[in-house]
Amino acid sequence: MGNKTYAMIKPDAIRNGYMGKIIDHTINAGFKILGAKLIRLTKAQAEGFYAIHRERPFFSELTEFMSSGQTMVLALEKDNAVSDWRKTIGATNPEEAEDGTIRKKFATSLSENAVHGADSDENAKIEIGFFFNDSELISNQ
Ligand code: GDP
Repeated sequence: MGNKTYAMIKPDAIRNGYMGKIIDHTINAGFKILGAKLIRLTKAQAEGFYAIHRERPFFSELTEFMSSGQTMVLALEKDNAVSDWRKTIGATNPEEAEDGTIRKKFATSLSENAVHGADSDENAKIEIGFFFNDSELISNQ
């Protein structure tokens, strides 16, 4: 089990004023923030990031949404980071997410679901590499 994962606070959560609350929730859940940047994804970046969903009917809606405003990109550290972060955020659809999870508390809908979490150690490494250089990943918390 790796100890790093890749996360994003998506544009809906930032627009709705939840960025600070989600960072608090993340730290209280035991994650260290190795890297953080507030960026606006270009449409091309969103399409590249979600390329695995290229054939899905919601691809265009997803990439429009993900490039519609600010996103906070995060590299997180914790034992079992990938699976613990997926538990911390809850199910993709906030209506199905367990009470107390980030998506249950802060997501709007299936498409605008507040946060992202890598689904494997391999993808976490690839996704962190998409947005961070090694020199930007610092652990001192
Ligand atoms: P995740 O790993 O929990 O983020 O879920 P997926 O990898 O299955 O989907 C990626 C993202 O696409 C989700 O977080 C949603 O933002 C979006 N998404 C997934 N399913 C749907 C859908 O049926 N409709 C729309 N509009 N967006 C979806």
